[in-house]
Parts: sequence; structure tokens; C-alpha cells
Amino acid sequence: MFKTIEEHVRKQVAPAALRAEFRQHEFEAMRPFCMLVFCASITIWLVFDLIVSFLGGQNFTWLSGMFIAALCTLTMVLRFTRRSHHFDVLNLLFIGVITFGLRLVIEGIPIELRPVWLVLGVSTALYAVSVLPVRRWSFFVAMAITWLMLNPFYHTRIEPLELEGALLISYAIFLSGLVIYSYLQIREAKLHNFYLSKVLLDQAYVDALTDIPNRRSFMARAEQQLNLATPGQYLAMVDIDNFKRVNDRFGHDIGDEVLKRVALHIKAAMGNFEFARLGGEEFAIFFEGLDQHGAEQQVEALVRRVREDTGSHPVTISIGLAHVNNGDTLTMALIKADQALYEAKHSGKDRFVSWTSRMAEDA
Ligand code: GH3
Ligand code: MG
Ligand code: MG
Repeated sequence: MFKTIEEHVRKQVAPAALRAEFRQHEFEAMRPFCMLVFCASITIWLVFDLIVSFLGGQNFTWLSGMFIAALCTLTMVLRFTRRSHHFDVLNLLFIGVITFGLRLVIEGIPIELRPVWLVLGVSTALYAVSVLPVRRWSFFVAMAITWLMLNPFYHTRIEPLELEGALLISYAIFLSGLVIYSYLQIREAKLHNFYLSKVLLDQAYVDALTDIPNRRSFMARAEQQLNLATPGQYLAMVDIDNFKRVNDRFGHDIGDEVLKRVALHIKAAMGNFEFARLGGEEFAIFFEGLDQHGAEQQVEALVRRVREDTGSHPVTISIGLAHVNNGDTLTMALIKADQALYEAKHSGKDRFVSWTSRMAEDA
């Protein structure tokens, strides 16, 4: 089952809008991690700067202070960044500043020690970028900035065509290849995961025939509304009249068309409220912020709307409406609405009936 869905999903080319949604979702989920990476990078840079300043006999100058201030400012900006494409740029600024700062610190150590530290700096920066939620262009620009700023052949004694230089170039190619590969793999796997969960959630919470929320979705959302205890809550149960006859006379496919049409009416009329297909030819609507009159107007309008839709194979609906009292559970409210629906069916159909306590006594 899972394998079939997975194969189905793999065949779909992820559309641009979905990729954009994925990036935003990913960034929002990973922003605390990005903050952590920024803070850790600043700490590492500072420790390195302090070691070079004191053990290396350099001074900790105002320039270091400026770099720290700039990096901390960028981290604060990240704290308030909400859009993933802003992070693509912000991260490049951070990479630009920190690699430049690192270059200046490394320039302060003896020339024979520089290549090792430059390569260590490149490795750390590239690995960190590869796990951040950035777009491809931003990742590759970050890579270019890092290699340019921390170029191990610049201001060192290494020649590209000598043994040490050739080894370093081999390592650079190997490192870059590895980082690019893992970056692309991670992004692809995460995108696939995101898409798969979306498809599965859609299938779990949306009714396949009518494309409106299903029972599971309704129970979860109505329960949530109920717990919030907002004023003016009503529950309506909707049932198509004589639907079996539609199926018997015109066949199941026409029955399905009628179901879809009724679902469309509910969706169009009840867009501001929670609604769902509970199963078969039954639907439910959860109102809030209405008084008895307002709720009755809503359901009456829906009954009329379906009745007046005189396209092919017209049908009518019956509705049971129940006020949700403080302390009622969703099951209790559903039972009341069902009792009112029963009354609507037995008093002639094509109408709504509001629940009264008498109905509970009769049941
Ligand atoms: P009433 O006015 O009392 O509601 O009568 P009814 O015929 O609508 O009620 P009944 O519960 O006897 O029939 C419901 C029918 O709905 C039976 C079932 O075959 C049909 N049905 C349930 N789900 C589907 C579906 O997904 N598609 C189609 N075409 N029919 C369905
Ligand atoms: Mg029914
Ligand atoms: Mg029915």
C-alpha cells in the first residue's frame, strides 16, 4: 500500500508552487536550527580570533569587535526573518562577513600555518551551508564566496602545480563534490517527504468523491471548536432525500454526480463554517457565532438552494439543527442533530427541523 502510494508520488513532478511551499515550510521549521548555526559559527570564529590574538601575539582589535557586531546583527535579523527567500540572501551576507573575518584572522598567523586553517575554514563553512534550508542558487553562491574568501593559494606559499598544491586541489574537488552531493540529496529527500506527507494527509482528511473535508477532518475540527466554547455554536446534519431512489433509477454514477453537486452547494453556502461529508449521503455543518434565528436562516437557505437547483436529476435535502450547549460533547450534539433530522424526514422531508427536548424524550 505504502509502496504503491510512494511510487505514485515519485512519478509526479513537483510543481513550482509546491516547491515554494516546501521551502517556506522547511525554513519555518528550521529557523531555530539556523539561529543555532549562526550562533555556533560566531562562537567558533570568536574563539579562533582570541587564540590568534593572545597565543599568536596579535591584538584583539576594534576590527574584531566590528565583525562580531555585524555577525550578531545578522543573527538578530534572522530572528525576525519570516520568508525563506529572504534567508537565501541573509545567509549569503553572513557567509560573506564571516569568511572575510576569518581570512583577516588567518592573515595574522605565520604564513606556513595558513593553508591548513584556510582549508579547515572552508570545510566547516561548506558543511554548515549544506544543511541549511537554502535554495540551490544561494547554496552555490555561498560555496563560491567561501572558496574565494578562503582561497588557500592566496597569500600563502603554496603553488598549484607543486605537490602540496596538487594535493590541495584534489582535496578541494573531493570536498566540494561531497558537499554538493549531500546538499542535493538532503533537499530532494526532504522535498519528497514533504510531498508524500501532504498527499497522505490530503487522502486522510479529504473525501475522495466530493473533494470536501471528510468525517475524520470534521470530528477533529468540530471538537477543537467545541473545546474553545465560542458562543453561538450549532450543529446541522444534512441528508439527501430519497437518494436510494436516484441510485436505483439512474445508476450509481448519476448518484455520485448528485452527491458532488450537493457537496458543492454546501461548500459554496457554508464556506465560513466547518463542513464535511460524514459518509454516504450525509453531511454535517458546524456553526459558530450565530443565534437560533441566524442558524435557522443558514440551513433554510441551504434547503432552498438545493431545491431550486433544477438541473438534471434534482434532489432535495433534509436538515436537523441542534444548539450545542455548554458541556455538550460532539457525540451528544450529533445525536441531537440526528434526532432533529429524523423529525424532518418524518414530517415530509425537504425542510429543516430544530432540535427540542421533546425529541430526546420520544427517542
Ligand atoms: P431518506 O430520504 O430517508 O434519506 O432515504 P434515502 O433513500 O436517502 O436513504 P437511505 O439511507 O435508504 O439510502 C442511502 C443510499 O445512499 C444508500 C446507498 O446506496 C447510497 N449511497 C451511499 N454512499 C454512496 C455513494 O458514495 N455513492 C452513491 N451513488 N450512493 C451512495
Ligand atoms: Mg442517510
Ligand atoms: Mg437520505
